[in-house]
Amino acid sequence: MTRVITSLCVREGACATVCPVECIVPGKPEDKYPWYYIDAETCIDCGACVPACPVEAIFSLDEVPEKWKSFIQVNAAHYGK
Ligand code: SF4
Ligand code: SF4
Repeated sequence: MTRVITSLCVREGACATVCPVECIVPGKPEDKYPWYYIDAETCIDCGACVPACPVEAIFSLDEVPEKWKSFIQVNAAHYGK
């Protein structure tokens, strides 16, 4: 299980600051990946990033709202998966 960041993200970095395994990074290149992204293979599903997000952009993999389900693949694509 991992977490997924959606397009609600305003790219301000609070989640990356609290992640204990440093698996959240700002997307690069920014024009192609304008939000932050979670490396699912490194994430330990601790949940710390969720309350840290000021805009509630982060969801558990099994709780991603329908309209943002495509972001599961977007996150994976950022990491070349
Ligand atoms: S759930 Fe924990 S380990 Fe996973 S991205 Fe969020 S803060 Fe990092
Ligand atoms: S805390 Fe939320 S808004 Fe800030 S970078 Fe992370 S996902 Fe984006």
